Amino acid sequence: MSGRTVKASDIEKAVAKICLEANTVLREDVLAALEEAYRGSEKESGPAAMLEVLVENAKIAKKTKLPICQDTGMAAVFVELGRDVVVSDGNIFQAIDAGVEKAYKEGFFRKSVVADPILRDNTGTNTPAMVHIDPVEGDKITISVMPKGFGSENKSAIAMLNPTSTPKDIIDFCVGTVKKAGPDACPPYVLGIGIGGTMEMCAFLAKKALLRPIDKANAKSHIAKLEEEIKVGANELKIGTMGLGGDHTVIGVNIETAPTHIAGLPVAVNISCHALRSASITI
Ligand code: SF4
Repeated sequence: MSGRTVKASDIEKAVAKICLEANTVLREDVLAALEEAYRGSEKESGPAAMLEVLVENAKIAKKTKLPICQDTGMAAVFVELGRDVVVSDGNIFQAIDAGVEKAYKEGFFRKSVVADPILRDNTGTNTPAMVHIDPVEGDKITISVMPKGFGSENKSAIAMLNPTSTPKDIIDFCVGTVKKAGPDACPPYVLGIGIGGTMEMCAFLAKKALLRPIDKANAKSHIAKLEEEIKVGANELKIGTMGLGGDHTVIGVNIETAPTHIAGLPVAVNISCHALRSASITI
């Protein structure tokens, strides 16, 4: 068989490593945005003590290797799988789940996954992970893990807008979603937004958008403008850090887009709390 061989056990180890990292080390871009809101040029003009607590919490988590939040989330896993990679001694889905299980056991993280959405029996392993695989050129595998807490997942929303909808209609839906969330999803928020595709594709894009550093705008200028306008609109709500009021309801808006049908304009908003956690590795 041609191609580069990667052992399933190496995928398992890599996933366990980034799962532990994601849950205990807040992303640099998110920490920088919280610090900026606390003491930078865009300093909070309202109650700021809670921002200091969030920054301090992230620093303690990193130092002690304790989770940033007690809700250590359901693992969303994004894989860029090189076409020349051959996985040996197992399959990639089992290897990813084994890595997640190992990390949640070793880290003493809360296991939050139930096997059946109606019967609600806990799997006890925090698996299965929600795995998305994209085939790419090359012989490498890049894996990103995003442990997603459900305080914020539950406040996410999708709308199938009319194709005649204007950018203002999109802004209104996204800001309205933040307004409905209010303080319930632990702001300041990061919004991952998917626009276009089909219903399930725009929801996927919304989640994937959260992987992009929040200080990197979309490369398309009209989409970057929309990101900024949604951020401004959401911050005018003055929900503030943990709902205490203030300028920082949203610290980042990332939009990803896809082609769509002439008859529709799907828009999905995936809300992340201040504990936007993810880590990546290439093997
Ligand atoms: S919404 Fe985020 S910060 Fe709040 S409990 Fe859930 S994971 Fe933790």
